[in-house]
Amino acid sequence: MQEKKYDVVIIGGGPAGGQAARNLSKRGYKTLLVERYKSFNDNNFSSAGMTLEPLKEFDLPEAVIGSYWKDITLQCTEKGYDWFGKTKKGVVLDFGKLRQFLADKAISDGGEVLLGHRYLEKRVSDSGVAIDLLDVETSEIKKIESRLLIDATGPLRKVMYDAKEEQPKMNLGSGTEYLIEVDQQTYDTYKERLVFFLGHKWALKGYSWIFPMENRILKVGSGRTHLKSIDQENTDKSTKKITEKIINEYIQPENYTLIDVHGGILRYCEGLNDTYYKNNVIAIGDAISAINPRGGEGIRYAMQSANLASEYIDSYFKTGKEKFKEYEKKWKRKKLLKWRLSEVSARRMYSRYSDAQIENRVQFFQQNFSIDVLIDSLFNFKYNKMLSRIFSFLWLKLKYKFKKKDF
Ligand SMILES: Cc1cc2nc3c(=O)[nH]c(=O)nc-3n(C[C@H](O)[C@H](O)[C@H](O)COP(=O)(O)OP(=O)(O)OC[C@H]3O[C@@H](n4cnc5c(N)ncnc54)[C@H](O)[C@@H]3O)c2cc1C
Repeated sequence: MQEKKYDVVIIGGGPAGGQAARNLSKRGYKTLLVERYKSFNDNNFSSAGMTLEPLKEFDLPEAVIGSYWKDITLQCTEKGYDWFGKTKKGVVLDFGKLRQFLADKAISDGGEVLLGHRYLEKRVSDSGVAIDLLDVETSEIKKIESRLLIDATGPLRKVMYDAKEEQPKMNLGSGTEYLIEVDQQTYDTYKERLVFFLGHKWALKGYSWIFPMENRILKVGSGRTHLKSIDQENTDKSTKKITEKIINEYIQPENYTLIDVHGGILRYCEGLNDTYYKNNVIAIGDAISAINPRGGEGIRYAMQSANLASEYIDSYFKTGKEKFKEYEKKWKRKKLLKWRLSEVSARRMYSRYSDAQIENRVQFFQQNFSIDVLIDSLFNFKYNKMLSRIFSFLWLKLKYKFKKKDF
């Protein structure tokens, strides 16, 4: 291990790191994926809900899917609003199995995976990067070398910045999730359905959720932004307490078994102003704020950023010409506007709107839009159908007002 030199070392075995390792091993590069946890089943923090598109986009197998969903409920403080799908609309992945699958793919193409090792520091030189890793079990330090180093450490951004003070200003989010086993009748109420909670009763400057996994298993959680809100009330609520409230007062199972409690943080840089590359180090995934700031879905975008970075890394190795500035530009061209809209929407929904305003908007949506339009706006940043409907609605209102004036 100590004598080995790699083309690429990737720190962080999340969706971004795993996908990069998969891509670059497949292209024949000597690749090492490093993860601080000893198993992909540890740190299984993500709810991993998404639509069907990523399955095709990243050629994901059935084995990483926890369950399918087809219906959505938006539960506000007063009422719940339902949308029913006739066919499957999305999946909830098993996050541990997804990361294991990506690592296995890299190994089957000749890549190496080193679990239970924490990245400590790097030394950059003209020929590449020297990296120190700590074996978390034995405390032994391993020294390796690589031509390129990838920061896929997610919100921590451990590799790109040597000190925390070097990091740009970021917005913080955090979430807690309980994995519970419930009786069959309770599970059947939530199977094939994503439930999202909005408003103060069931969420805290963010949203909460119930996602189904395999039979009798539910993911119940709550995520919050740490934005300043108009009502700066002191509260003893936490995402953990709200999660427990949802289980006890909303789901109300006769009894349940707690399988796991996990959580994580999100750190998002407004305007996508992270550092994308510097001296032989390239960042991907949550380390470049690839996560959607409104919904907090990041798996698809972490993997997309890994795909894009892999193209530029491949071209660098083949031609010797470094065009990583293009990687940053292309990513921003694709995402910046959408992410900006998402930032505005998050700020309104989570820190400005009252419960009544949220309820009004959700009710309007439910009366006017199908589940496909809802999914497009929640997950795919496609607002065409929704906006044209709203404009024609406003146009009709205006016409009616003028007609009344004429009389
Ligand atoms: C509670 C919660 C719920 C979520 N739900 C969803 C959802 O439903 N759908 C969705 O699409 N997204 C969801 N997300 C977001 C999604 O999980 C992330 O956007 C995604 O995992 C980002 O992938 P990544 O590979 O960039 O980073 P991560 O998944 O964070 O992976 C980073 C990896 O780096 C490792 N690491 C960190 N430091 C070191 C070090 N020093 N040495 C070695 N390894 C290190 C970490 O252990 C980790 O495995 C959720 C996030 C949270 C917190």
